[in-house]
Amino acid sequence: KLYNQVQDLKGSIRVYCRVRPFLSGQSNFLSSVDSLEEGTISINTSSKHGKSRKSFSFNKVYGPSATQAEVFSDMQPLIRSVLDGYNVCIFAYGQTGSGKTYTMTGPRDLTEQSKGVNYRALSDLFLLAEQRKDTFCYNVAVQMIEIYNEQVRDLLVSDGSNKRLEIRNSSQTGLNVPDANLVPVASTSDVIYLMNLGHRNRAVGATALNDRSSRSHSCLTVHVQGKDLTSGKVLRGCMHLVDLAGSERVDKSEVRGDRLKEAQHINRSLSALGDVIASLAQKNPHVPYRNSKLTQLLQDSLGGQAKTLMFVHISPEPDAVGETISTLKFAERVA
Ligand code: ADP
Ligand code: MG
Repeated sequence: KLYNQVQDLKGSIRVYCRVRPFLSGQSNFLSSVDSLEEGTISINTSSKHGKSRKSFSFNKVYGPSATQAEVFSDMQPLIRSVLDGYNVCIFAYGQTGSGKTYTMTGPRDLTEQSKGVNYRALSDLFLLAEQRKDTFCYNVAVQMIEIYNEQVRDLLVSDGSNKRLEIRNSSQTGLNVPDANLVPVASTSDVIYLMNLGHRNRAVGATALNDRSSRSHSCLTVHVQGKDLTSGKVLRGCMHLVDLAGSERVDKSEVRGDRLKEAQHINRSLSALGDVIASLAQKNPHVPYRNSKLTQLLQDSLGGQAKTLMFVHISPEPDAVGETISTLKFAERVA
């Protein structure tokens, strides 16, 4: 059965949607989400013309009570694919505060149960590699980078250095950012150490009001090399786990200078990503990878045999409904 699921995912694009719960103290609000059933989400919109409902369908829809474990279990076939030599991209998309980081990493005070996709994906990889150890010898290494204002920065540095990195498409090594630290990992505790380092580096320069993490894309890339112990053949797969910058539109009359520049970079790169995935979904022969650093970086993991999961996040608050609709429209376009 699992094998069939993997086959289904071959060279595929899937779209999942998650609605986060109300945050504490907000439980008296009426939700903008009218219903969630069988992969369909219905949203209440109200305007001066009255109330209406809009429905959107995706491969999976998770409500506020979905657990981290449930959400991850639907991604497990993708993890297996990486060990089989496929490239995988998982994107968390949504407005700031919609739960992207919660899904990918978890809450600030991490517990075993609240651990996000990144941790679970790596521990699953180690577990599967261990199960296959009589037939395959696997090496796993990670990189973690940030794209901010169309500049690429290494998050796995210990000295706070801030060197700009170049993207090169080197199909030989499979490393698209060859100058970013590539750190071998053998256990979940190695991964936890590195992710903490990455998160500390990402937060550099951020204040409460000026949270840079919501305005940059962060990408944890897991490189897997597997040697078939009988044939000697080497398989290479990689997985990119991407926590995207917040998708909210910024009112141009309200921001200037640096904030306006940031907003324009984010807008452009998220629409470039949407354009790439939409043209892959439509089997369009021309795929516009060159329009952003993000799509250049992920070029060899988007399309072809690669597997993509666009995981969109929405907030249930009525005053977020405008952004919610635009997030769902983005998701519908790439589905
Ligand atoms: P984003 O990364 O999209 O800006 P966060 O992941 O930081 O959003 O989520 C915003 C807040 O909501 C955080 O305090 C987070 O812990 C909480 N949150 C998000 N999703 C969930 C969830 N599914 N269950 C419980 N709390 C959540
Ligand atoms: Mg975040």
